[in-house]
Amino acid sequence: MVLLAAALIALALLAVDAGFLHEEYGWGTVGFFLVFGLFAIATGFPHPVFGHVSFDRVAQVASILVLGPIAAACVNGLASFVYPWQRLRKGVPLPKVLMAAVHNSGLMIFVILGSGLLYQSLGGAVPLQQLDTSTILLLVALLVAMQVINDIGMMLIVYLQRGKPRSVFNSFTTVVELASGAAGVVLAVALTQQSTAFFVLLLLVLVTGMLVIMQYARMRYRLEKLVEERTADLRLQAEEFERQATHDKLTRLPNRRHADDYLQQQINLAQRSERTMAVALADIDHFKRVNDDFSHAIGDRVLKRVALILREGCRNSDFVARYGGEEFLLCFPDTSIDRALEVCGELRRAVQLADWTDIVSGMDVTISFGLAEIGNDSRRRTVLNEADLRLYRAKREGRNRVVAA
Ligand code: GH3
Ligand code: MG
Ligand code: MG
Repeated sequence: MVLLAAALIALALLAVDAGFLHEEYGWGTVGFFLVFGLFAIATGFPHPVFGHVSFDRVAQVASILVLGPIAAACVNGLASFVYPWQRLRKGVPLPKVLMAAVHNSGLMIFVILGSGLLYQSLGGAVPLQQLDTSTILLLVALLVAMQVINDIGMMLIVYLQRGKPRSVFNSFTTVVELASGAAGVVLAVALTQQSTAFFVLLLLVLVTGMLVIMQYARMRYRLEKLVEERTADLRLQAEEFERQATHDKLTRLPNRRHADDYLQQQINLAQRSERTMAVALADIDHFKRVNDDFSHAIGDRVLKRVALILREGCRNSDFVARYGGEEFLLCFPDTSIDRALEVCGELRRAVQLADWTDIVSGMDVTISFGLAEIGNDSRRRTVLNEADLRLYRAKREGRNRVVAA
């Protein structure tokens, strides 16, 4: 808004100071550039979200070089106020269109005025025949600067709207826009030295070229989107397969195979460092009775809830897996067996105190634990055997307890 206001004030001052249009150019020329500018802008890059990335550089540069800066600003400013209608028609929401319109027209007017004034200081609005190579190079640099200023502003808008600027601006659109702008410079320089017929022919070629480029850009954009979507689908599918292979369907905990791999990995790590890890095998007490007294379906719900209690009672860095029917393996990395004893005690209490009335009333569920510790000379089998023996002792000694020695 500030930029637009500043540009409009500058425009008004300049218009008063310099007169509206250079005497050598009549309304016919202005009309032509208006139509051409509108066409260039209306056939802008049709991005579904930010449809204001437009190939309007040709119109901008051509008008800067051929018309005076004030006329150029009017032509492009007008065009950028008309372009929003096309975007609205395509279903872009009004706030976005307004923001883009203000931004685009403000920047365009601002940039054109700046470049126009610089151009005037180089040699005036017309004629261009005296332009030497260094001046043309300077104009090309100006064009690149315009492109950069415009894109930085647009990136800022996209960023402020919490979008991803990289999804709107890629090297492809930048190259295409720069190339069309460069074509505009060549055209503007050439047409001032050629006949009207040549001038019309060049424009025809340029317009057709832009249409082709636009179509190509649109196809490329759609293709990229399609490939992106397919890749995302495939990735999701692969993740799901991976999850199914490594996780238990009922409790959603890692399964036995995954648990064995994990344990082996941790043992390998422990052998190379001074790390210790406590391991626990847990088994629901008299689970058969739950199935027999109530039903297998009730048994499943109890299993799920016990799994949840165990998982939620552990730290994120701990590992909780379903190791068998109603048996769980818990690993506590960088934890001593004494500390694990306390944690398992809390888990045991949490299961005992859990409210089961929403599943079935009058049901008691308890769980027993056997603990073991991984040192730097442990083997998977012996660790599991040790934990299993202690679990067996916990059962023999009356269940609902944790045995660690
Ligand atoms: P203990 O205290 O000695 O562990 O007694 P328990 O009854 O829990 O021991 P046991 O190993 O004899 O019984 C385990 C039961 O768990 C047998 C099996 O039907 C049941 N079970 C295993 N997997 C599932 C399951 O996925 N769903 C249900 N509902 N039951 C299961
Ligand atoms: Mg059991
Ligand atoms: Mg069992």
